[in-house]
Amino acid sequence: MSPRQQLYIGGHWVEPATSATIEVISPHTEQVIARVADPAPDDVDRAVAAARSAFDAGPWPRTDPQQRVAIIRELAACYRAREDELAQLITTEMGAPITFSHSAHAKLPGVMMRAFAETAAGFRWQETRTGFLGGDVVVGHEPVGVVAAIVPWNMPMFLMVAKLIPALLAGCAVVLKPSPETPLDAHHLAELLDQVGLPPGVVSILPGGREVGRHLVAHPGVDKVSFTGSTAAGRQVAEVCGGALRRVSLELGGKSAAVVLDDADPEAVATGMMVAGLMNGGQACVAQTRVLVPQHRWHEFVDALVSAIENLTVGDPFDPATRIGPMVSRRQQQRVRDYIDLGRREGARLLVGGTELPAGIECGWYIRPTLFADVNNAMRIAQEEIFGPVLSVIAYTDDDHAVHLANDSEYGLSGSVWSPDIARATAIARRVRSGTVGVNEPYSMDPVAPFGGVKNSGIGREFGAEGLAGYLDTVSLSIRRGVVNSTAPQGITADTPSEIRGA
Ligand code: NAD
Repeated sequence: MSPRQQLYIGGHWVEPATSATIEVISPHTEQVIARVADPAPDDVDRAVAAARSAFDAGPWPRTDPQQRVAIIRELAACYRAREDELAQLITTEMGAPITFSHSAHAKLPGVMMRAFAETAAGFRWQETRTGFLGGDVVVGHEPVGVVAAIVPWNMPMFLMVAKLIPALLAGCAVVLKPSPETPLDAHHLAELLDQVGLPPGVVSILPGGREVGRHLVAHPGVDKVSFTGSTAAGRQVAEVCGGALRRVSLELGGKSAAVVLDDADPEAVATGMMVAGLMNGGQACVAQTRVLVPQHRWHEFVDALVSAIENLTVGDPFDPATRIGPMVSRRQQQRVRDYIDLGRREGARLLVGGTELPAGIECGWYIRPTLFADVNNAMRIAQEEIFGPVLSVIAYTDDDHAVHLANDSEYGLSGSVWSPDIARATAIARRVRSGTVGVNEPYSMDPVAPFGGVKNSGIGREFGAEGLAGYLDTVSLSIRRGVVNSTAPQGITADTPSEIRGA
């Protein structure tokens, strides 16, 4: 049986519980390109049982953190050697332009692995504090246990790495559930994990659908759920975890704003927005799809944006000239088309793009990059996450109005401020209620910059020491040097400060 018909459970390729398969369909040709095993709830049970026993009885959580760092460094080296192959896989399965696949989908996760390893290498795993009540307090950081990590398809390897690697560095055992749209890169990651010496049971990877995700989140053997996906699904996950008092972190949707200040250069902004708003075909949680421009320079910014969009090559994702490939699925294409129709009905003015297939393209799940003007921030196209290449330009009167519009959203994940005056832009950026904001940067996603949302964009942080801490419990050990006096209140000893002893 080929590995694609098997599942990676507890560090072994095993036969699935059923013969069900997932069809992987090329978003460019709409042809079936692979069939992979579709996990069933029984497979989830096996994966959780393997993780449970690896965590409760295996060596991994008790290994010296520096040994775990060494294994992740080794994994990063194996990963690097196969980055080109991975870029091809991701373009094949989800249609990302090959140049973007090389830089963001393939290279960035390798950089992340190395950065996470350095963070763990320098992490203060234990410290001793002089107790305020006397004695010593040893504060330690212990792995939270069995982690269920659930990710979407839009940045498949990046999102898997963002959860799996810090969780492993923390000493956790992980059951990872990627999306059914992108199982090929999940298999690629499992093959790489096979090459390094992880103890049995520590990692399982089950690319599957929502039912698999639901079963995993509700599983009593799971200690923490780390979820990335839509706000609607995140809410369901949070409800289940709330009921079970299970730790949960949520990386959810966004509708971020790019605040273009009135001294910004239109060409520079337009170039930046092709990344900030349209990278990965707009299928990015950090996409800044509301472009806030000063009313008195509206025409200059809109003209620059229209011309930049018209210059984007849309088409075959394997062509190195392509900047916008197809959407991941027919469902996603239809969703974006529906929003373009909605924008027209709401009274926004379509300046470029639309629902028709791009010129010269007859099949594939393509959407023309689209720009709406005359958008009011209350319109649904300005409030709801479209997850496609659709930008809305919204005019503002002064800086306070721009900040008000940026914050007038249920989301708060990303954002940017554009101006040659860094001090002014930074001051505005601090007023934007969002987990991350870039200043003249399309987005803020450095591996040491804590990443995550406020409001409906989520709870918790990934990356950096804060991200590692999300997979750790803080525990305290109190060590007494004196003899406990049985006549004194409990815990009072000779080394307790005199004002507390009452001496
Ligand atoms: P989705 O919520 O439909 O699915 C995401 C993942 O969760 C998939 O693996 C899916 O199978 C699983 N899932 C869905 N419902 C579930 C449930 N009730 N219980 C358990 N698992 C469940 O999202 P999608 O359409 O695949 O991805 C796009 C969304 O992800 C967008 O909203 C985007 O903003 C968000 N996203 C957020 C971040 C971030 O870091 N904040 C990053 C990437 C994508």
